[in-house]
Amino acid sequence: MPPVGKDAGKTELQTRIQELIEANQVVVFSKSYCPYCVKVKDLFKGLDVKCNVVELDLVEEGTNYQELLGEMTGQKTVPNVFINKTHVGGWDKTKQAHTDGLLQQLLNPDAETYEYDLIVIGGGSGGLACSKEAATLGKKVMVLDYVVPTPKGTTWGLGGTCVNVGCIPKKLMHQTALLGTAMQDARKYGWEFDERVKHNWETMKDAINNYIGSLNWGYRVALRDKNVNYVNAYAEFVEPHKIKAKTKRGKETIHTAARFVLATGERPRYLGIPGDKEYCITSDDLFSLPYCPGKTLLIGASYVALECAGFLAGLGLDVTVMVRSILLRGFDQDMANRAGEHMEQHGVKFLRKYVPVKVEELEAGTPGRLMVTAKSTDGTEFIEAEYNTVLIAVGRDACTDKIGLALAGVKVNPQNGKVPVDDEEQTNVPHIYAIGDILEGKWELTPVAIQAGKLLARRLYAGATLKCDYVNVPTTVFTPLEYGCCGRSEEKAIEMYGEENLEIYHSLFWPLEFTVANRDNNKCYSKIICNKLDNDRVIGFHYLGPNAGEVTQGYGVAIKCGVTKEQLDNTIGIHPTCAEMFTTLDVTKSSGGDIAQAGC
Ligand code: FAD
Ligand code: NAP
Repeated sequence: MPPVGKDAGKTELQTRIQELIEANQVVVFSKSYCPYCVKVKDLFKGLDVKCNVVELDLVEEGTNYQELLGEMTGQKTVPNVFINKTHVGGWDKTKQAHTDGLLQQLLNPDAETYEYDLIVIGGGSGGLACSKEAATLGKKVMVLDYVVPTPKGTTWGLGGTCVNVGCIPKKLMHQTALLGTAMQDARKYGWEFDERVKHNWETMKDAINNYIGSLNWGYRVALRDKNVNYVNAYAEFVEPHKIKAKTKRGKETIHTAARFVLATGERPRYLGIPGDKEYCITSDDLFSLPYCPGKTLLIGASYVALECAGFLAGLGLDVTVMVRSILLRGFDQDMANRAGEHMEQHGVKFLRKYVPVKVEELEAGTPGRLMVTAKSTDGTEFIEAEYNTVLIAVGRDACTDKIGLALAGVKVNPQNGKVPVDDEEQTNVPHIYAIGDILEGKWELTPVAIQAGKLLARRLYAGATLKCDYVNVPTTVFTPLEYGCCGRSEEKAIEMYGEENLEIYHSLFWPLEFTVANRDNNKCYSKIICNKLDNDRVIGFHYLGPNAGEVTQGYGVAIKCGVTKEQLDNTIGIHPTCAEMFTTLDVTKSSGGDIAQAGC
């Protein structure tokens, strides 16, 4: 006898639930306000899996659904998740299944099995962070790292740009230069030592490279400890889930993975003029150059060029920077020019509005002699000058053109080779992700690559939802007078909010440490840009002075928290420091008031 009345209704509902479970890959019985249900829905969204959601608080008979589900599964609570007709459970069980890889199996029961859960291409800042985190979460991970030698034959170990040819040797050479300045100051403070103080390039280069060698070794050990399979080989896609790995000796192997992360970074761009690859070097060669570069020309006017020019001049070398247009494009120009002026006052020559045309060798040697011909950017004048070393720093190209991305179906921007990704670092191919310097429109900084890599692994393998926040990233340019900033440049703030809606506070200052040494009086500078439309919130922070990285890091946290001018004013400074300047700024730029610092 067919059921009647209440029983008939129950059977009908049971059939409806059954049909839902059978017709959909994923069904989530949820309640719209339940935070665990939100987590489950976000997890499937992150996995790019369509799920059929029944919000029990919004549908008719929601309570009856819940009771029946309790009878069917022994679970009365929400979320209640079914995948391909299998009951998974609530948030904890779904998350665990995801971590264990069971979720993926349930989602794709007929899926091919792969050698690895994850293959990361590139063992630099981003790749190492991502691979270690994924392995910590129990995944089978391979990371491939391979350094293509520079045209001069320079190569290096595991760890990518930052460790080998970027932040680390750069900061250590900058420190070498600062020590030179400190030695000059030291005499004023009463230290007595021989008049003739020499710097030995080879000693510095060896010491720094030995330290880098220890870091390379440390990375290898860390990968081994975390069970990441590191292979020193060049990787390129041959199919969407398959790569070919080629070692230095030419040995080729094939590997497959369910997912891939591209973290191949960038390499210095050359100019495409006669003599550039034959005779010039880039930052990839400088830090392990076996001889002192001598009289040096740096071509380019951004981070790399200015930082290298700064420390080379600090070592006492004759240094010229050839600038095509402006200093530090994209940065606050007021700050960039102040940093440049300080360099100029300390002996760096700037050849403005010139670009090189050709480089010829006059004499081979270590260093040799090179003749550089340059033309003015308006094309009217040509000049020639002789240097021992020419360092090209005109930008960096993403290493994406020789890794078989077309065979994997990954789209890149044909203009610059950068990889466009969504806000979860996913490329147009769902199982391929990208992080670090190769990303389109993102910061090219080590901590950014690390954060993106770590969070990506957590989202992929631990059900996490936190995304990398690329906004208000603090950064520092390690010019002789360091420049730290966070948030908007003055130009960008004006463009975004209008000059009338901004209040800019600024001040020159003279660090106490400089006073006895009697140098750089009132050359340091602090500036904040406040949005009048939003409670005088600080939207731009700019600092030119010693220890800019340390100062900016702290204020970076405040800016992330949305600090306002009033809160800065209410903060008591630490005296005597440079950082305290930001707690006492009271002259606005619009007032035209005197900003020179008179006393302490
Ligand atoms: P990388 O660190 O470049 O790593 C990519 C790795 O992948 C490399 O080892 C590469 O050889 C390898 N690779 C490429 N293709 C393949 C392939 N097909 N197969 C296998 N391996 C491959 N950032 C800061 O935050 N602070 C600084 O002070 C700073 N200073 C810098 C100074 C200089 C001179 C330069 C050049 C950069 C500096 N940066 C600095 C930037 C920072 O180094 C980069 O943002 C960071 O290294 C990017 O990390 P990544 O993982 O994207 O790439
Ligand atoms: P970049 O920021 O792309 O700047 C390239 C510079 O070269 C610009 O000054 C540009 O001038 C000039 N240029 C380009 N083509 C030229 C040509 N044909 N002739 C003459 N000049 C030319 O490159 P980068 O300095 O190599 O830095 C790369 C990235 O590394 C940066 O984006 C940064 O994120 C990262 N980095 C960070 C740090 C740090 O955190 N301290 C340090 C170093 C590097 P125009 O302005 O005229 O275009």
